[in-house]
Amino acid sequence: MDRRSVEKILEKYGRIFYVGNDDRINELESIKKYTIDLGREYELYRLAILMAAKGKGTDTISYSKKGIEESIVSGNDYLAVEIYMFLGIHYRMKNQFDDAFRAYIGALKISPTARCYNNLADLYILIGALDEAQEFLSKALHLLESKEVLSEFEQRLLNIVYTNQSEVELLQGNLELAKSSGLSILEYSKENGDIFNQGYGLTVLGNICLIKKEYESAMNYLNEADLLYKSCDESSQRQVEAYIGEVLILQSKCLYEWGKYEESIDKINQLLLKDKHYYEYLIKNYEALDKKDEAYKIYQEFMTYIVTEEENKKAEQKENFKTTVEIYETEKKAHEYELLYSNTKSIGEIGRQIISADKLDHVLNAIHSHIDKIMDFNALALGVIEDGVIHFNWMFENNERLEPYETLVENKNSMSGWVARNKKAIRLNDALTRDELKKYKETPDMNWHGDTMDSMIVAPIMVKNEILGIISVQSSDKFQYSEYDLEVINTLASFIGVAMKNWQSKQALKEMNEKLEELSKTDALTGVSNRHILSEIVEDIFKKDLHDDHKISVVMIDIDHFKEYNDTYGHIDGDRCIIEIVNQLRVKLDTDGNRLFRYGGDEFAAIVPFMEEQLVFKMLEGIRSEIEALKIPNKKSKVSDFVTCSFGFTTVKKGEKNYQKAFYLADEALYKAKAKGKNQTVFIKD
Ligand code: GH3
Ligand code: MG
Repeated sequence: MDRRSVEKILEKYGRIFYVGNDDRINELESIKKYTIDLGREYELYRLAILMAAKGKGTDTISYSKKGIEESIVSGNDYLAVEIYMFLGIHYRMKNQFDDAFRAYIGALKISPTARCYNNLADLYILIGALDEAQEFLSKALHLLESKEVLSEFEQRLLNIVYTNQSEVELLQGNLELAKSSGLSILEYSKENGDIFNQGYGLTVLGNICLIKKEYESAMNYLNEADLLYKSCDESSQRQVEAYIGEVLILQSKCLYEWGKYEESIDKINQLLLKDKHYYEYLIKNYEALDKKDEAYKIYQEFMTYIVTEEENKKAEQKENFKTTVEIYETEKKAHEYELLYSNTKSIGEIGRQIISADKLDHVLNAIHSHIDKIMDFNALALGVIEDGVIHFNWMFENNERLEPYETLVENKNSMSGWVARNKKAIRLNDALTRDELKKYKETPDMNWHGDTMDSMIVAPIMVKNEILGIISVQSSDKFQYSEYDLEVINTLASFIGVAMKNWQSKQALKEMNEKLEELSKTDALTGVSNRHILSEIVEDIFKKDLHDDHKISVVMIDIDHFKEYNDTYGHIDGDRCIIEIVNQLRVKLDTDGNRLFRYGGDEFAAIVPFMEEQLVFKMLEGIRSEIEALKIPNKKSKVSDFVTCSFGFTTVKKGEKNYQKAFYLADEALYKAKAKGKNQTVFIKD
């Protein structure tokens, strides 16, 4: 026996209202080895149905629950739904409506089926919530009617849905509608040999006659219904117990109204489950028969019953029912929140990309490629505000990039202008309506950039209270954007704001770094390049070029008797002196391709390319006398009354390796200048 055949047997006995002459128990026993082979969930379900057939309620419930668990664990949605529905029906038959409701909702969450909607409607009818019942019946009908071909089971189900609908009609007082429904159910059920629904149709018709006070016909219908229900064999009868009870109540009611009190009492006494109706008709009948003592006795019983049973149970049931419905509603909401959550995840993702973007192009791409997961749009624009101008350099419309466009913050006819001035977002859902535009534009015309749009959100990009830009999404459909969408755009706007602020501070940092770097290259006191930068660039300067024989001179300069100067005038004046001398040196040695470096405390180096040594000598002598002519007093100097400098230099041919030799020789030359009495220039030939 294959899986499907086993499932069909389980369907036959586990699904709603199988009431015929059957051999349930035997057939269920005979498939044991197949259900064991198919898996624990099948075996548990088989046992549950078997227990129901044997009238073992507790076992039915526990096997069903275990079966559901196993089905869910093994991912067998089909069976989980089957067992949930089976359990729901079981509870419903036991008048445990709240448990039934929970079971149906369990099935509904896995897969919303017409069967489930119908059974929920049935529960709603039982508690008198007719509007809700109607709603679920419509859902069931909608699902069934959307199918092109109905299976045999679905045809039966459709009939059951109609039955329930007729019951609602009846309860709503639409007797004629209910009657025609009842007749067609009856007819259809007869054709299909559906005993249960025949019984049901007859009950409906009996009830209608009763309401119309046509007691004889009512009793005929009800007696027939009773016979049909009772024609089911022993095991199936348990399934219809509740329905037989309903018929008995109707019969009792009918007989009472008809004046046949004894018969009415007889019927009501057949009720297996004593409920409100039982007491109600007993009392009424005894009163009608003027049996006051009996009536009073039953009345007292009824009072105890109300306190202990009925009321408590009903109240509890109602409470439970309410909670279950609330749980269901909450879960529906949870699903919506889940959706919201996945949107939030998208927003988070866009946010991360925005923050890590290093320019607006990337920001717009991040938004453009993700926002469609959250909302529909035809156009997306991003503007940056600078000096009162909104520069829309980033605009997409129907996936095309538009030409940049700009407008003024002060523009009273621009919605972006309004947003920038008011620092508030706007949301339009019918933007082509002038009334809506009037709020934001002085002349509500359509000076549109790009296509006209019906829905739009325009939001400011702000950090604290500072407005940095504008973001806008637009759609050519009306009523496209909700409050929630506005929130999303506002959130994105704040991400962009943070990103833009980041770039600004990054730019400031970059500028500061550049300054620092510049500073590290230059000597803080004099502003000329330092020795560090000299060592970095000297090789490049000495590199061979097209003219190999080009000469290059290295000059070393040192202030004479500067120690004495410091000692005499102090360090601060010493600094000033150094600055003055450097300024003088710069005039000729830091221009026209010459480079000057501070080499040490009072020592400087200069590189002078493309010059014959004689000319260099002349130039240096010139500088030397200019320095002396500055007449910075240095009274302890042994060579002059003023500050003087010594110069040593050499001239070599260019070539990468020559620079070390050149520096060495220049140093030698300076040493010689010092040794020869300072305040002079010495040249050493290569
Ligand atoms: P010489 O003529 O042989 O060069 O003798 P000198 O006194 O200049 O001796 P030397 O070059 O050895 O001494 C350099 C002095 O320059 C020592 C130090 O006090 C001074 N000095 C170096 N850097 C600075 C500076 O940045 N500011 C000031 N005020 N003094 C400095
Ligand atoms: Mg010196």
